[in-house]
Amino acid sequence: MDFGFTKEQTMLIASLQDMGKRENFKELAAEIDRTREIPPSLTKQYAKMGLLGMTLSSEYGGNDEESMTAILAIEELAKFSPMIAATVFESNVGAVRVIDMFGTEEQKKAILPGVCSGDFSVSVCMTEPEAGSDLTSLSTHIEDKGDHYLLNGNKCFITGGGEASHYLVYTRIGDIKGYKGIGGILVEKGMPGFTFGKQEEFMGLRGMPSCDLFFDNVKVPRENLIIKQGEFSKLMLTFDIERCGNSAMCLGVAGGALEEAKQYAMERKAFNRPICEFQDVQFTVADMAMKLDAARLLVYRAVEGAGKGLPSIYEASMGKCFANEMVKEVTDKAMQIFGGYGYSTDFPMERMLRDARAWSVAGGTLQMLRITLASMIFGRRFDQRKPE
Ligand SMILES: Cc1cc2nc3c(=O)[nH]c(=O)nc-3n(C[C@H](O)[C@H](O)[C@H](O)COP(=O)(O)OP(=O)(O)OC[C@H]3O[C@@H](n4cnc5c(N)ncnc54)[C@H](O)[C@@H]3O)c2cc1C
Repeated sequence: MDFGFTKEQTMLIASLQDMGKRENFKELAAEIDRTREIPPSLTKQYAKMGLLGMTLSSEYGGNDEESMTAILAIEELAKFSPMIAATVFESNVGAVRVIDMFGTEEQKKAILPGVCSGDFSVSVCMTEPEAGSDLTSLSTHIEDKGDHYLLNGNKCFITGGGEASHYLVYTRIGDIKGYKGIGGILVEKGMPGFTFGKQEEFMGLRGMPSCDLFFDNVKVPRENLIIKQGEFSKLMLTFDIERCGNSAMCLGVAGGALEEAKQYAMERKAFNRPICEFQDVQFTVADMAMKLDAARLLVYRAVEGAGKGLPSIYEASMGKCFANEMVKEVTDKAMQIFGGYGYSTDFPMERMLRDARAWSVAGGTLQMLRITLASMIFGRRFDQRKPE
């Protein structure tokens, strides 16, 4: 299948590979995992290279790129570590796309240039302690107070929590139950009544800020409402672009693990021969490459279909589900090829395996993706909710 990458896209991939080698991103990946800190200089460097917000509108500092360009960049950087790709992900396929696609002129002017320069970032805030997969049960709500809204509620597992400058909060507007009552409002860090919980300590993705958010009578200006009540589908459709970014992270991590395993299999000797001469190791590596390529085809299909707009829900869900499972399998197999060294923190395999595990929960679980796919295949909705 020819995805017809442009000359610029091919050059971008090559330049990111060069940068990774030149600046020793392999070592940086291990350091971020150890220290749990992404150097702020990396974000500034990406901004100078035009990698931040390249999919956003050019009137506001972006470059009107198709999502594919960003996906290729995310994949390439995630071969070293998802943390090295994180700001490229957030600024191109994250919640900022909702503002770019559906925000007002004023909202775009206020936010997008700052995202492209690396000064701002926007977190997506959906999950609540009692509303994860069951998102439409969320209870965070805003009350119309005339010249402002009053926001109350709390969120959990919010990537960027505490560090991001802006938060796109999925909230109930008024009393309508279910998805029809949900919209999205932009909340800024530092607004009185808006506080953060302690940072999560995750198994992997170390360096990625994540925490609970608390909204206690936060006065939010009316002009911060981005998605009105009744327009929930706009939020979810745009989130499918983020899901393609999640899938690109999986392609990258798996690609990095495959390369490491291949090199190791050519160097490591057992029974006086390189282990790549054992047929089981060959078949394992062949299977890893086959699964990775299959995932890549599904993910690229969704992204290519999206162009500068939205992907098909079916294609984005299928790509994410397959890529999420693939990366767990590929990193696990890579670890096996490394033998005892794979289990050691002196080698990158255990980190890659830990990082791989996150994606099949973040951005919607495998089960919820399969429910979406099944409902499209059968052409009917399967209500998950127990009748009251
Ligand atoms: C690394 C990471 C980053 C994240 N970043 C963000 C973020 O930036 N913003 C944000 O809002 N959220 C974020 N999340 C939260 C994430 O979206 C939720 O964890 C996820 O949607 C699942 O919700 P839950 O944890 O409440 O699990 P639950 O909904 O409680 O599900 C528990 C289990 O039950 C299964 N299950 C539930 N319902 C069904 C069903 N009907 N059929 C079959 N199985 C079912 C689920 O698949 C899961 O396996 C992040 C999570 C992680 C791990």
